[in-house]
Amino acid sequence: MSDIIAAIATGRAPCAIGILRLSGPGCAALTGRVFTPKQPFADAPDRRLVLGLLHDRQGRVIDECLGVVCRAPHSYTGEETVELQCHGSPAMLAAGLESLLAAGARQAGPGEFTRRAFLNGKLDLTQAEAVVDLIDAETADAAANAAGQLGGALKRAIEPVYDGLTDLCSHFHAVLDYPDEDIEDFGAAELSGALDRAGAALQELLATYEKGRHLRQGVRAVLLGKPNAGKSSLLNRLAGYDRVIVTDIAGTTRDTVEEPVRVGRVLLRLTDTAGIREAGDAIEALGVARSEQAAREAELALFVCDASQPLTDEDRRAIEAAKCAPRSLALCNKSDLPAAVSPDELPFDTVLTVSARTGAGLDALPALLEGWFLGENACDGSLLTNPRQFGALDRASRAIERAKTGLSLGVTPDAVLTDVEEAMAALGEVTGRTVREDITNRIFERFCVGK
Ligand code: GDP
Repeated sequence: MSDIIAAIATGRAPCAIGILRLSGPGCAALTGRVFTPKQPFADAPDRRLVLGLLHDRQGRVIDECLGVVCRAPHSYTGEETVELQCHGSPAMLAAGLESLLAAGARQAGPGEFTRRAFLNGKLDLTQAEAVVDLIDAETADAAANAAGQLGGALKRAIEPVYDGLTDLCSHFHAVLDYPDEDIEDFGAAELSGALDRAGAALQELLATYEKGRHLRQGVRAVLLGKPNAGKSSLLNRLAGYDRVIVTDIAGTTRDTVEEPVRVGRVLLRLTDTAGIREAGDAIEALGVARSEQAAREAELALFVCDASQPLTDEDRRAIEAAKCAPRSLALCNKSDLPAAVSPDELPFDTVLTVSARTGAGLDALPALLEGWFLGENACDGSLLTNPRQFGALDRASRAIERAKTGLSLGVTPDAVLTDVEEAMAALGEVTGRTVREDITNRIFERFCVGK
């Protein structure tokens, strides 16, 4: 039987509401020692808010707040749980928690509530991981996809494949139990058809990962161009506030600066660089090396030029660096000034004429980047976003491919069975059916305390 855990579930800054949370058999009675509504809290009606007074360890009233009991099994963790909705003073919440701990609760570890939900079968591992993704979501699309996964979208995609492989295994066991029969007697065509279906379903899921990764982690992007082209001004304009100092003294941006910037539905992890140029001094030389490195590591390079001046060798070096990234485009900046560069001069498929000063031309960027990095996919939980899940599904897919090859080459049924079982084990790791404890530990360590 599990003990009673307690935690502050809300942030550390003062805010309107702060929540104390408990889980474990008997937590309503324990809470009733420090939270006193008119009726004893242990007898409070299930899932109904009641108003009461919260006391600190010394018995002083520290808040008037609402409490709710959710009794097992109809709660987040599957156990009896309590939430106290208090005023959001961090000091008061800390005193309230201390009071609950003194009454016999134990401080919850990171993700311990969700771990209990997982162990009690309320969530599978894809849903538990979706909880963190939902908390960490930086765009509405990322939240929508995580909410879909929390609703079981991924689990529903994987389970039919797992069930199909279970059927296959029983066929193979039958083959192994009757060694004198030929595998043909068990319908080799049918078996390979089932493997094909499982493999295709996994391939379909794996193919969503690139977009899913962009959704969850954002797109690594870099601004490249000679000093004073307007990179920092563009970053500030896209970020919506002055993230970087802008001056007309060349070389002001000495180091690389990374900023998450939302462009339409796309989250760019945008790096501003010191500019590709002949290094004037040691610090700047370091900055230049970093910008070249950033270009090599980026998924998208945005080349920026000052289109009011003819192109120079410095611009050409920046163009070369930008071309190292898998995707690149050119921003002909300072369109509010008379043009000295024509877009045709720039060796990029996509050239936008823009002004960081006025914002002109930048409205074309969202649709362009959404098309490149997110596509038309519905963000309903069907996108695979998590590297751990991708790795395990990829292993499952490879094992199925081996089983298919084995079957077509006529290897012994037990060899094919080994591959199918390996695929099942990998799928089980994704949903948590067969996952090792050290892996679940690592997953729940990423959670915040109180979740
Ligand atoms: P960086 O060195 O490439 O980061 O360039 P900055 O963003 O620091 O800009 C250099 C200078 O160009 C600053 O004085 C900016 O105000 C100016 N600037 C940037 N964008 C524009 C623009 O679109 N139009 C005009 N007229 N000036 C700009």
